[in-house]
Amino acid sequence: SQAGASADGSATGTVQNVVVIGSGPAGYTAAIYAARANLKPVVFEGYQVGGVRGGQLMTTTEVENYPGFPEGITGPDLMDRMRQQAERWGAELLTEDVEYVDLSVRPFVVRSSDTEVLTHSIIVATGATAKRLGIPSEQQFWSNGISACAICDGASPIFKNQDLAVVGGGDTAAEEAVYLTKYGRHVHLLVRGPRLRASGAMQDRVFNNDRITVHLNTQVEDAYGDAKGLKGLRLKDSQTGDERKLPVKGLFYGIGHQPNSQVVAGQVELDAKGYVKVRGSGVDTSVVGVFAAGDLFDTEWRQAITAAGSGCMSALAAERYLTANN
Ligand code: FAD
Repeated sequence: SQAGASADGSATGTVQNVVVIGSGPAGYTAAIYAARANLKPVVFEGYQVGGVRGGQLMTTTEVENYPGFPEGITGPDLMDRMRQQAERWGAELLTEDVEYVDLSVRPFVVRSSDTEVLTHSIIVATGATAKRLGIPSEQQFWSNGISACAICDGASPIFKNQDLAVVGGGDTAAEEAVYLTKYGRHVHLLVRGPRLRASGAMQDRVFNNDRITVHLNTQVEDAYGDAKGLKGLRLKDSQTGDERKLPVKGLFYGIGHQPNSQVVAGQVELDAKGYVKVRGSGVDTSVVGVFAAGDLFDTEWRQAITAAGSGCMSALAAERYLTANN
């Protein structure tokens, strides 16, 4: 029962062992492990999230913390290598978005606009999307002054000993601000509301750090700079409406992530924020035979290596499940 997926829009009648949904580090790693276990995985790589297959790392330049690349590697290069490795071991890659799954029937049904596949197990690795502010010049300075990941980009030479800003009022933003004091000269934490929402312990770390200034009631209107990068921000006081400029070389978004769980919503259990809830082995969803990997369930670490790690776990768990149920 391992024939390829049909390309003509009809069900093939054959049942796949495992379908992987997503092409970030979690999806490709799951595909590599499943393919190496001779399960002939069918991978729906997707493209609509970010406009390309490969996931979040397609939107960044250098990845300096993925083990095995001592000189660093660009995000797109890293993802291309993972893809090649999956393909080399026989994963079938379809650059299509999954539009519908039915997890209430056995075998499960997975459907894109072009393909319908029946499968005994599914690994959902559809990731998350870092929320952006959507300021007018965001695209211009993306990866050249504006970043959605302080841990990933904070150590870049363009931020070293510079004044930096973090936007957001929760734990993530507070943690990013503290983290960035390792690299920047001073960090401005820009909070839209009248108070920080971060936990008490996190607030203490922020307020006790004389290299962080908290600006309450502060909205980012736009950024300015030139071809070399960011030079500053235009801010607005959300109470008085007063505008002012803040010269900084970096702006980090700490305003949260949106898990891409729409495709399984209503069928597997999600938490209040839409993250897939996992249990048991750590990658089991509420539906037996459906596994989750990567940022789709990870509210905590959200790194390429942790996504790849849970991708590996999900493939091994699927293999174990298939063996036990065959
Ligand atoms: P993602 O990478 O989000 O991939 C999800 C995949 O699922 C995508 O391919 C998407 O198209 C696909 N998908 C979604 N919906 C569907 C659907 N319905 N059908 C089919 N496919 C679908 N981490 C590091 O470790 N080091 C770094 O330097 C680093 N830099 C970063 C820089 C930026 C700007 C950002 C945003 C993140 C960075 N990260 C970094 C974090 C890292 O990118 C993520 O933790 C990691 O990509 C999560 O992997 P994932 O496989 O879970 O999901």
